[in-house]
Amino acid sequence: MKLKLFLVTLLAAWLGTTQVNAAKVRVVATLTDLADLTRNVGGDFVEVRSLATGIEDTHGVPMKPSFVPLLNRADLVVLVGFDCEHAFLPALLEASKNPRILVGKPGYVDCSKGISPVDVPKSTDHSEGDVHPYGNPHYMLDPVLAESAVKTICAALINVAPEHAADFEKNRDAYLAKLDAKIAEWRAELAPFKGTKFVSYHEHWPYFAERFGLVYYGTIELKPGVDPTPRHIENLITSMKADHVPLVVREPQFPEKVPALIAKDTGAKLVKLPIMPGGVANTDTYIAELDYIVHTVADALKK
Ligand SMILES: [Zn+2]
Repeated sequence: MKLKLFLVTLLAAWLGTTQVNAAKVRVVATLTDLADLTRNVGGDFVEVRSLATGIEDTHGVPMKPSFVPLLNRADLVVLVGFDCEHAFLPALLEASKNPRILVGKPGYVDCSKGISPVDVPKSTDHSEGDVHPYGNPHYMLDPVLAESAVKTICAALINVAPEHAADFEKNRDAYLAKLDAKIAEWRAELAPFKGTKFVSYHEHWPYFAERFGLVYYGTIELKPGVDPTPRHIENLITSMKADHVPLVVREPQFPEKVPALIAKDTGAKLVKLPIMPGGVANTDTYIAELDYIVHTVADALKK
C-alpha cells in the first residue's frame, strides 16, 4: 500500500514537472544583461539562455554550433538592437530555421524599441569598420534605459504566454521597483563626482555618463570597432593631461597594455569595468554589475 502511494506520488510529481517544463517559454538572449532581466520578469515560467557568458565583446560573441539548436527551439530571441549583434545574430537566425524569431516576428524582441540612440553617424555603412552604424547601442549601461528593456521583454512574454500575464506584470513591477531604489543609491554614490571626465577603450559609456553626470571625454579606439593609431594615442594623452582627466576605463574584452600605458603617462587611475554581467567576478546579475561599476568608479575617484 505504502509503495503504491509512493509510486502514485512519484508519477504525479513527474507529470507535474513535465507539464511545467512544457509550458515554459524558451528564451535566448544575446547578452547576459538581457538574460538576467528576462529571468526576473519571467520567473518560473521561462527558461533563459544567453549566447554570451559576459566576457565577450558585445559586437562579436563567438558563434558556437550549440547556438543553432538552442535558437531553433526558442520562442523568443531577446536582443540589444541598433545592429549591436550584427556580426553574429543574423547568421545564427538564418541557420536556426525558426520562423518564430525572425526579424519582424513577435518572437524577435528588439529591446532598443522606444530608445533614442546617441551618436548616430551620418552613414550607416559597416565598410569603414564602424560597429555603431545606427548610433550607440550600449544603452544597457544606463539603468533607466534598462527599465525600458524590462518593459519590452515583459510585453513579449505576455504576447507569447498570455496565460501568465498577471505573473509577468507582477514580476516586472517588483523588479522595476527594486531597480528604482538602486538607481537612487547609485546616483547618490556618484553625485560627488559630477563633471568628472573619463576615457574608455570602446565607446561603451555615453548613456552611463549622461545618467550619472560624468563627462565622457573620449575613447582609446579611433572609432567604435577600429583600433587606435599611435598618433591618436599621442593626441589623447596630450589632451588628457591638459584637461586633467583622472580616469581610464578598460573593458575586460580589450587588452590592458594601451589603457595601462595611457593611465601611467597621464597619471589617471585605471579601472576594469564589466559591460555586462559576468564580465568580472561577482557581477552575475544586472544589479550586481551596476553595483560593481558604480562602487569601482567611486572608489577610484575618492582616493
Ligand atoms: Zn560598441
